[in-house]
Amino acid sequence: MHTPTDAAYAAELDAADELASYRDAFVNDEPDLIYLDGNSLGRLPKATIGLAENLVRHQWGGRLIRGWNEGWFEAPERVGAKIAALIGAHPDEVLVADSTSVNLFKLALAALRASGRPGVILSDDLNFPSDLYVLQGVAELLGGRYPLEVVPSPDGIYGPVEGLLERLDGAAMLTLSHTVFKSGYVYDMAALSRAARAAGAITLWDLSHSVGAVPVDLEGAGADLAVGCCYKYLNGGPGAPAFLYVRRELQERLRNPIAGWMGQRDLFAFGLTYEPAPGIRRFRSGTPPVLSLALVEPGVELLLQAGMERLRAKSERQSAYLIALWEQLLAPLGFTLNSPREAARRGSHVSLGHPQALGIDLALIREFGVLPDFRAPDNLRLGIAPLYTTFTEIHTAVTRMQQSVVERRYEKYTHEAPTVT
Ligand SMILES: *Cc1c(COP(=O)(O)O)cnc(C)c1O
Repeated sequence: MHTPTDAAYAAELDAADELASYRDAFVNDEPDLIYLDGNSLGRLPKATIGLAENLVRHQWGGRLIRGWNEGWFEAPERVGAKIAALIGAHPDEVLVADSTSVNLFKLALAALRASGRPGVILSDDLNFPSDLYVLQGVAELLGGRYPLEVVPSPDGIYGPVEGLLERLDGAAMLTLSHTVFKSGYVYDMAALSRAARAAGAITLWDLSHSVGAVPVDLEGAGADLAVGCCYKYLNGGPGAPAFLYVRRELQERLRNPIAGWMGQRDLFAFGLTYEPAPGIRRFRSGTPPVLSLALVEPGVELLLQAGMERLRAKSERQSAYLIALWEQLLAPLGFTLNSPREAARRGSHVSLGHPQALGIDLALIREFGVLPDFRAPDNLRLGIAPLYTTFTEIHTAVTRMQQSVVERRYEKYTHEAPTVT
């Protein structure tokens, strides 16, 4: 019998993994590299390479302006419809456009302007900083009618659910990251959306660390609005455009604050007065980034084929395995678990704290061929992308983390300033 700390145990888990073959769908030029940062930048699907060549050489190079009538124009809605299937939305409720930050700005401002009642914009201090910056800007633009209220987490790991529920009565909008970027805590979207609706508050969810890793059912949860990122678990590529979701019943009531010609009802009439297009297209602003947008599709296709239920089951098994290894091998060396222990409240990355986290991170990257990421001041995030992360990689990464502390390999790096890792 092998025990979890044996490498052979990890190999058995890999042999029994029904999703194992998906790893081959991704470029892996450095077979020894242990990549645990798929939650920041997903790997490159092999299919994306051929598509990029086709897009640039054939579609742009050959078809020129005719390309707009051969699939480019509809791409934001076409790719959006595929993402919709990953997040429990109808195909006509999702659009790919802009960045997550810009989409958050558009939807928050549109929804607050349409809401009849003043109240706070309610969020938490686990939210992604960019989201809070955008919300601060939105609150300023609305002249104090909708101040931002940020409820603190009790421990930096769990969401402040009680505090949020207590304040909902005075809220116009509840906006949270469904899976929080540091600890990986996952909110109960259905319970909070229901409570928000009962209190008369609009919900706006950021799905950036959920989409492609944690099943989301926007319709089932009764969520109003959502945004999310395409370069993390969706594997859309660096700087891929983001997506936005607007529940059908709200679409005609909201007005895009960055009204642009691509969201105009009859854009080629070149009329001088804005009249929004029907449906989700009104949330477009300018010209879609056709090349990077089209490259989002292959990653989404792979996730749809694998199926979110199976992906989630594997991700839960892998993060539980990682936590079991932490408990045996890393906790005695001063690593703390900075993620929830219950699978239901945990996304697909696990955060471990250590006073020497930055030095450990740099030693792992430079000497051990492991790429996790570091989040100040003392947090190592280990991202599990169930499409391509193996149990063996998790086992090896943990033993190398152990070694980096036992052999004090982090000491060389403790005076370096953190950069993007
Ligand atoms: C990655 C991420 C973003 C990214 O925002 P961009 O504007 O696309 O750079 C936003 N929100 C959350 C929660 C994220 O994790």
